[in-house]
Amino acid sequence: MATIELRDVSKAFEDGTLAVDHLDLFIDDGEFVVLVGPSGCGKTTSLRMVAGLEDPTDGEILIDGRVVTQVPSRSRDIAMVFQNYALYPHMDVADNIAFGLRMAGVAKAERRRRAAEVAEILGISDLLHRRPKQLSGGQRQRVAMGRAIVREPKAFLMDEPLSNLDAKLRVQMRAEIARIQKRVGATTLYVTHDQVEAMTMADRVAVMRRGVLQQLATPPELYEFPTNVFVAGFIGSPPMTLLHGRLEAAADGLEIVLGSNRLALSARSGVEAHLGRDVVVGIRPEDIEDGALAGSVPANRCIRVRVDLVEQLGSDVLVHGAIDARRAHSDAVVEALESDDVSPVGGMEAVLVARCSPRSRILADSVVELAVDTDRIHLFDPVTGAALR
Ligand code: ATP
Repeated sequence: MATIELRDVSKAFEDGTLAVDHLDLFIDDGEFVVLVGPSGCGKTTSLRMVAGLEDPTDGEILIDGRVVTQVPSRSRDIAMVFQNYALYPHMDVADNIAFGLRMAGVAKAERRRRAAEVAEILGISDLLHRRPKQLSGGQRQRVAMGRAIVREPKAFLMDEPLSNLDAKLRVQMRAEIARIQKRVGATTLYVTHDQVEAMTMADRVAVMRRGVLQQLATPPELYEFPTNVFVAGFIGSPPMTLLHGRLEAAADGLEIVLGSNRLALSARSGVEAHLGRDVVVGIRPEDIEDGALAGSVPANRCIRVRVDLVEQLGSDVLVHGAIDARRAHSDAVVEALESDDVSPVGGMEAVLVARCSPRSRILADSVVELAVDTDRIHLFDPVTGAALR
C-alpha cells in the first residue's frame, strides 16, 4: 500500500471554473480519508486528479512519495470504485472479480484462487457462480469492491459508491466498506456529499467548500472543534443552531445576549477582541435539554422558545422552537444548512433545535424554558466565520 499526497493542487477548467483551489492533502499508508462537502465543491475533481483522469492546472500529486502528475492513469496502480459499478452481465461473480487479472495475463488457476480469497473477505463466497442480475444491490456493490481489491493496488479511490443503494443498505454497506478497508489495509480516498457517511467511515475527514479545503481532522475533532461556521453547520444532524448574539464580559466569566435571553459561560481564550460586539453563537441540539427535566438550572443557563414542532424519535425528542434572536445567515451558514438532509423549519427564522430526553413532555405551540450546557457553546467571528478560541 502507499501514501497519497496532493501538494498545492489547483484545477481551473477551460471555461474559467476554479474547481479546486490550492489543495494540500496527505493520506497516510492504510488511512481512510473521506472528502466531503456540498455539491460542486470540487470533491470529484480532486479524486479524478489523483486517478490521473484530470490534469491539475497547478501543483503536484504524489503516490508513495513519487510525483505522478505526468504519469498516465493506468500506470498509477490505483483502483477506482464508482457509483455506477458496471459489472459484466454475461460473466459470473468469479469472472467479474478476476477480470482485471485476466487482462493482466494472470493464469486461470491463480485468478480463481485470488477471486475466491477476495470473495471470502467480502462474505460472498457462496455467490461466485451467480450472474450480476441474480444479485441484490449490496451484493453487486461487494463484487465491484472485489474487482478493485483483487488487483492489490497501491490505493483505492471511491466516488459515492453507495449512492445507488437504498437507505438501509447504505448504512449496512458503509460499515462493511470500513471493515473491509481495515482488513485489507488499503490507503483510501473516498468522496461523498453525505456528512454522516464521512463521519462514520473515515479515519480523517476533509471538508471542502467552493474548491477550498476547510478542515482536515478526525471525526471527533471535527465535531468538537469545527474550524469555522461552515464546518460547524455542515457536520452534525440535525445541524447546529447558529444565531447572532452579543458577547459581553461578566463578573465571573462571559455573557451572551441573544435577544431577550442572557446566557452565562465561563471565561475562555480567543474572545478578548470580540467583547461588546456581535458574534455568531453555535449551539448543538444535544447541548440543550428540556428545562423541566434538567434540575435546578439558573436563569442565565436557560433560553425561552416558542415550540413549533416536536418530533418523537423514540430515543430522543427533537424540539424545534423559535427563539427571540437573529439567525446567522452568512452564505457559509446558509450553504452548510441547505446541504444537509435536515433543513431547519421556518426558513431564515431563528429556529433552534434541541435534542431532549424521551421523557420530555414538551408540546407544540407552548412556550418553554430550555436548559443550555453553555460551556459547550461555539463562538465564531461574524465577518470571517472563524472559530474563536
Ligand atoms: P457533486 O457532489 O455534485 O458531484 P463535487 O464536489 O464532486 O460535486 P466537482 O464535480 O468536482 O464537484 O465540480 C467542481 C466544480 O467544477 C463545479 O462547479 C462543476 O460545475 C465544475 N466542473 C466539473 N467538471 C467540469 C468541466 N469538465 N468543465 C467545467 N466545469 C466543471
